[in-house]
Amino acid sequence: MRFTDDRYAGERQQFDLAVRLIAHEARTHIIAALTGFSQDRIRKLYATYFRRPDGSTIRRQRGKSPTNVAFFVRNASVQAEASTLVYLFGLFGILEITERLDPLPSRDCSGVVFGELLCRAYETYTSLYPRTTISFERSWNLYRAITSRKDALLADCLHCGNIYVQDALALDRAECPPCRLSRTRSTATHV
Ligand SMILES: [Zn+2]
Repeated sequence: MRFTDDRYAGERQQFDLAVRLIAHEARTHIIAALTGFSQDRIRKLYATYFRRPDGSTIRRQRGKSPTNVAFFVRNASVQAEASTLVYLFGLFGILEITERLDPLPSRDCSGVVFGELLCRAYETYTSLYPRTTISFERSWNLYRAITSRKDALLADCLHCGNIYVQDALALDRAECPPCRLSRTRSTATHV
C-alpha cells in the first residue's frame, strides 16, 4: 500500500511538472528529459489537457532547441537578463559556482526536483522583469551552455567587479551589462 502511495505521489509530481513545462512552451524532448515521461505520453497530455474550445491545442515548439549563445550577449539588456537567470540558478540550488567562477551542475538535485527548481528559477526571472526576452527553452540552453557545454561563462567586470554572463568565444571587454550600457550611452552622447 505504502509503495502504491509513493508511486502515485511520484507520478503526480511528474504530471504537475509536465503541465508546468507545457505552459512554458518547452519542447517535448525537454519535457521527457525532465519528467521521465515518454514523448508519446506528453503528446497525449497536450491533446487531453491543452485543447482549446475550437479544437486546437496550445502552441507547441517543434524542431531543435536553440543552442545559440551569442543571443545572450547581443546587447546589454539581454546580457543582464541572462546574468540574472544564472544568479537564480545558483539561488535555487541547481548550479554551484566554484571560487574560480566555474558554474557546475548541482550534485544535490536531479530528475523531477531539478525540473521543478528550473521552473521556479525561470518563473522568478519572469516576475522580476516587466517584459522578458529569454524563453524557457533559451534558459534551459543557458543552463547547459554554462554548466556543461562551457560555451558561455561567468566573468567579473574590470570596472565594478559585477559577475556577469559572457560568450566564451567573445572578445571580452571585461564589462558587465550596466557598465556596457553606460559606456554605450556616453559614446552616444559624445557623438
Ligand atoms: Zn561593471
